[in-house]
Amino acid sequence: MATKHKGRAIGIDLGTTYFCVAAWEEQNGRAEIIVNDQGNRTTPSFVAFTDSQRLIGDAAKNQAAANPSNTVFDAKRLIGRKFKDPTIENDLKLWPFKVVSGADDKPMIMVNYKGEEKCLAAEEISSMILTKMKEIAEAYLESSVKNAVITVPAYFNDSQRKATKDAGVIADLNVIRIINEPTAAALAYGLQKRDKCSGKRNVFIFDLGGGTFDVSLVTIEGDNIEVKATAGDTHLGGEDFDNRMVSHLVQEFIRKNKIDITSDPRALRRLRNECEKAKRTLSYANETTIEIDALFQGTDFRFSLTRARFEELNRDLFEKCMEIAQKCLDDAKMQKREIHDVVLVGGSSRIPKVQCLLRNFFEGKDLCKSINPDEAVAYGAAVQAALLSKDYSIVPNLVLVDVTPLSLGTQIRGDLMDVVIPRNTIIPSKRSALYGTAEDYQSNASIMVYEGERTKASDNNLLGMFSLSGLPRVSRGHPINVSFELDFDGILKVSAEDETTGNKNGITITNEKGRLSSAEINRMIEEAASFREEDENFKKMVEAKNALDDYIYGMEKYMKDFYVRSKISPSEKQRIKAALREGKSMIQNEHQTEASVFENYLKKLQNICQPIVNLVIKEAGYSFDGFVLSDYY
Ligand code: AMP
Repeated sequence: MATKHKGRAIGIDLGTTYFCVAAWEEQNGRAEIIVNDQGNRTTPSFVAFTDSQRLIGDAAKNQAAANPSNTVFDAKRLIGRKFKDPTIENDLKLWPFKVVSGADDKPMIMVNYKGEEKCLAAEEISSMILTKMKEIAEAYLESSVKNAVITVPAYFNDSQRKATKDAGVIADLNVIRIINEPTAAALAYGLQKRDKCSGKRNVFIFDLGGGTFDVSLVTIEGDNIEVKATAGDTHLGGEDFDNRMVSHLVQEFIRKNKIDITSDPRALRRLRNECEKAKRTLSYANETTIEIDALFQGTDFRFSLTRARFEELNRDLFEKCMEIAQKCLDDAKMQKREIHDVVLVGGSSRIPKVQCLLRNFFEGKDLCKSINPDEAVAYGAAVQAALLSKDYSIVPNLVLVDVTPLSLGTQIRGDLMDVVIPRNTIIPSKRSALYGTAEDYQSNASIMVYEGERTKASDNNLLGMFSLSGLPRVSRGHPINVSFELDFDGILKVSAEDETTGNKNGITITNEKGRLSSAEINRMIEEAASFREEDENFKKMVEAKNALDDYIYGMEKYMKDFYVRSKISPSEKQRIKAALREGKSMIQNEHQTEASVFENYLKKLQNICQPIVNLVIKEAGYSFDGFVLSDYY
């Protein structure tokens, strides 16, 4: 039985391209998607750094073309990976921001913030996005929020899950559960549809997002939602389709103009933005035109793209989605005809060709589009958050059973992978395996823990290793019991015990190379607080500057008024004019970044301008509360 947490809890879909946050609303008996400060229900997963401030979400994306090298996106593609990971090799070439290899080959993002080089881990960028989500939720709920359920692609491995959890910690969130994105969507679907369902329904969740692709086969029966199998690719989604278009159009530009634009990050960003828009248009139109003025060295770009061409460019990727769908069915040992509903989730599931291939794959079955593909994951996460919280009493009594996406095991003699927990095992799970020492008189045994499906252990992903020492000096075959414990978040603990002496050792796979150490996490928490403070100071400074600007604007208007001019002495006039001039130059001074300087000057100016204010009040009989006096005219 899972522990229940005190306090409000939110559900977070931390997508590669967009994020979405939701909270359970008890009085309505459903989860609500929380709109951001721009009124949008999803927010771009972008963080930007400028000379004066840090921007997150829409504000960051909107300035991306003007500030490409300091606008970071796709952090989710880097999280929990190594710099040398072949899956990000191509991304590295296309990203306009710089990524370098840090300690233990951890990818580090380099940006220039307030004139200084900053080196940030993907966890830090994700934590900034999570902080923004927390703020959006707190503003909407009018209360502080600490607890959150965060979703991850079902195919995220152990280190990607842990790195996501670390990002939550840095953002000052208590991550009460990590759940798989398609499972969250199944929860949303199950909740919305279960009244209409009778008996057992096999639901196939097809989740094609911005950066990742997941499928899950789920059985819904009454209040029980059970994941039978899951499959996916953590590097397949809308951005890959955009990349194909970008590469194609770069070649077109070379063909037409004999110019290569790939060295210009700004041009690439503008092209990418237009490609993404064109891709969306092609989901309802058969043809679209991409037009960009002065794309590179003053040369305009115009290109007509048909849906057929777009489909051709991405054919292999779309087909790969169907292969993965088949793998999931095979794992669940189910036939296509046993599937009752095929549910579309993720923005890229709107692509007509994808829908067509999927319909054909399921032999003409109608696809279910009744849940919002952009919001279902956050919705389900909010339901799970409420289920895990003490603060909500009226939550449907859903029971969710999830599975692990990758097999977990140890390396045995001959570099073989010995699977202890096979993929698609229900989580949480605890299993043991008995091994014998390989050599005579061996005093130490190394336990190497891997995840993956390859027969050769070293072809899989090494999660960590530890050793059990102090073994009795006996012939080979001495028994060692190795236990694997997988928690609700899909995070693994491994321990080994000498059966004869009771001597034990173990690891929660937390200290493997590339993962943040607790000291690093603490440093990042402190940094996050200082980022927050800087953001707050910047906001205060802008507000103080605007207040001073408004006041000067108002006073300048009064100074032009005949009545006012006739009543104040020339020396007074000079004094006020000089003070207004000084205020204006202070506003124009970009190096002036202290809110208190503007606030103090406003106070000083208010004293100097008091004679004008007195005159205005006397003449108009208004109560004057500052500077907005437009009624007077
Ligand atoms: P998600 O990760 O679910 O938020 O999905 C975001 C991805 O969906 C992005 O790559 C979007 O470009 C893509 N997307 C959103 N709407 C559409 C659409 N109408 N047609 C094609 N792709 C879309």
